[in-house]
Amino acid sequence: QCVFELTGVAKRYGSVEALKPLTARVAAGQTCAFIGPSGSGKSTLIKLLAGLIRPSAGRVLFHGEDVQGLDPVSYRRRIGYVIQDGGLFPHLTARANVTLVAREAGWSAEAMDARVAELADLVHLPLAALDRYPIALSGGQRQRVGIMRALMLDPEVLLFDEPFSALDPIIRHDLQQEVRDIMCGLHKSAVLITHDMDEARFLAHDLYLMRNGALIQHGRFEDLANTP
Ligand code: ADP
Ligand code: ADP
Repeated sequence: QCVFELTGVAKRYGSVEALKPLTARVAAGQTCAFIGPSGSGKSTLIKLLAGLIRPSAGRVLFHGEDVQGLDPVSYRRRIGYVIQDGGLFPHLTARANVTLVAREAGWSAEAMDARVAELADLVHLPLAALDRYPIALSGGQRQRVGIMRALMLDPEVLLFDEPFSALDPIIRHDLQQEVRDIMCGLHKSAVLITHDMDEARFLAHDLYLMRNGALIQHGRFEDLANTP
């Protein structure tokens, strides 16, 4: 059972070959990490999964359907996207950031309040922090709000794009621990993009190593560690 299946997927930006043709699968109910140094094609890969860019070749399937053929608005509601530093809109309060998409989807104020309270509890964010603007929150709080926003519509899959890299080491460690607990509790499929092998090992079941736009190794951490 796969949430994502990539077959012969490649991406060029003009003359830059950001991704060479690659094939990969993301199993349902697990976290899959793509790990590589800067410039290895990780962001390009996650943008393809999110449907934000189109592949130059090959197909990205989501539950067996080509992402390019799905309605972008409804597809976006089926995935939760968590980016570095929360990716919050600075002119909206934390609460307005979290509820933005639910409001567009026509949720009632009561339903939004109930869901926000539930999510704040899940990510351990004090309710008072929700009335602040992103600039008045700590880095860790911004990322908690980013996670709440991604979970608001109960998406089928979470995409984490370097979610911890803007945080200082102690906060990062705490949040990694919490995200791991949250993901274990939710049994959701997730994709993690990171340059940090320890982070990938801690959070993901299945690991792909990337280098220069190609997948160079795939397996569980134990399997990779045994390869020279
Ligand atoms: P990573 O996330 O691993 O740092 P990226 O996917 O951002 O890798 O980039 C892979 C390659 O594609 C790099 O050589 C990068 O410079 C190039 N690239 C990424 N985005 C663009 C773009 N919009 N236009 C041109 N080149 C790009
Ligand atoms: P970009 O500027 O990278 O093209 P968009 O304009 O598509 O991003 O999205 C605007 C903001 O909404 C970004 O901060 C992005 O991270 C966020 N976003 C996009 N899709 C989702 C999603 N499915 N869930 C939560 N946030 C999302």
